[in-house]
Amino acid sequence: MINSGNAELIAQWNDLMQRNYGSPRIALVSGSGCEVVDADGCTYTDFLGGIATNVLGHANPSVVTAVTRQIQELGHVSNLYAHPKALELAAKLRQVSGDHSARVFFCNSGTEANEAAFKLSRLTGRTKIIAMQGAFHGRTMGALALTGQPSKSDPFRPLPGEVIHVPYGDSNAVARALDTNTAMVIVEPIQGEAGVVAPDPGYLVALREMTRDNGTLLAIDEVQTGMGRTGDWFAFQSEGIEPDVITLAKGLGGGLPLGAMLALGSATDLLGPGSHGSTFGGNPVACAAALATFAVIESESFLDSNTRLGAYLSDQLRMLDRVAEVRGRGLLIGIGFRGEIAHQIQKALEERGFLTNAANAFTIRLAPPYVITEGHIDNFVAALREILKEVAL
Ligand code: PLP
Repeated sequence: MINSGNAELIAQWNDLMQRNYGSPRIALVSGSGCEVVDADGCTYTDFLGGIATNVLGHANPSVVTAVTRQIQELGHVSNLYAHPKALELAAKLRQVSGDHSARVFFCNSGTEANEAAFKLSRLTGRTKIIAMQGAFHGRTMGALALTGQPSKSDPFRPLPGEVIHVPYGDSNAVARALDTNTAMVIVEPIQGEAGVVAPDPGYLVALREMTRDNGTLLAIDEVQTGMGRTGDWFAFQSEGIEPDVITLAKGLGGGLPLGAMLALGSATDLLGPGSHGSTFGGNPVACAAALATFAVIESESFLDSNTRLGAYLSDQLRMLDRVAEVRGRGLLIGIGFRGEIAHQIQKALEERGFLTNAANAFTIRLAPPYVITEGHIDNFVAALREILKEVAL
């Protein structure tokens, strides 16, 4: 298997894997920084970063060292015991959340973080949840009930009940749906899977005010937007609000599986002993990777450079013919095209050595590692400019 090329590995994938993902076009075997190499030896610049996950790129030396040391020292403990790395990471999350009484539950993925938020909301004694149309919160049954994309959820009904979906970005729609049985409103600060859709400024502030007045939890899903991607540790921080719940995963582990659900303020009291758990959640190796990731983001001032490079990239993209709009913030960017050409563009970019994602027929999503440079960006924009000249509309 080791010497197999793309064709052989994809044939094996088609034979061995369930068909939930479809068939990939390339098989990746190694990576360093922003570059990844496929099984035929072709190199790509990674403008997707494992879908907003490899925030420091591939094989970051600090992450590799931290993980290596930790697995040699203590690879796993059950949640019957404390260990220093989980505590250090929880303290770091508390610090960046801005709430010095925040409490952390560790899990392994975004869907589990939202599942935990769902359960926490039920402990308020209320049962109704308001989520947004187009939202993506994960694929386990609770998180799927929150996900506002019927194509993903309809085949699996019945789902946990009393979740209603209202149009994203419309605070009046949330106000109309709120009632005395509403336990939680859950929202992404920017909808990533839906194609990088950003609400107008003031939306989260309005949701915060109305949920507080109604005794309803406000949960912000930062799974895709968190860990500094948009230029703040959490995207909601640009609106200056304080939510009750924050869910995190993807970039948190710097490429290792790790999720977290933070409860803030009075929401910290909801989960009691025995109410929730995870065998691997807060695993020392994943926590060591996350701590190394935080340290590098800080020492390299990536929050600032994500803002600067995101603006640099977006400004260049806006100047391209056939680009209708560029959405998002920092290094989470959606390129909206005139015409349903995104899948064709993704394939053409791949052939020229760039990994991206067609989030829908009109949109290419970019979520590059923070180690991306202006040079990578210039090469990417030049390639896209050429492709757009060739693509028939
Ligand atoms: N929430 C958001 C906003 C996401 O973008 C995703 C994944 O794309 C999830 C939740 C689910 O995360 P995971 O795939 O780690 O379960």
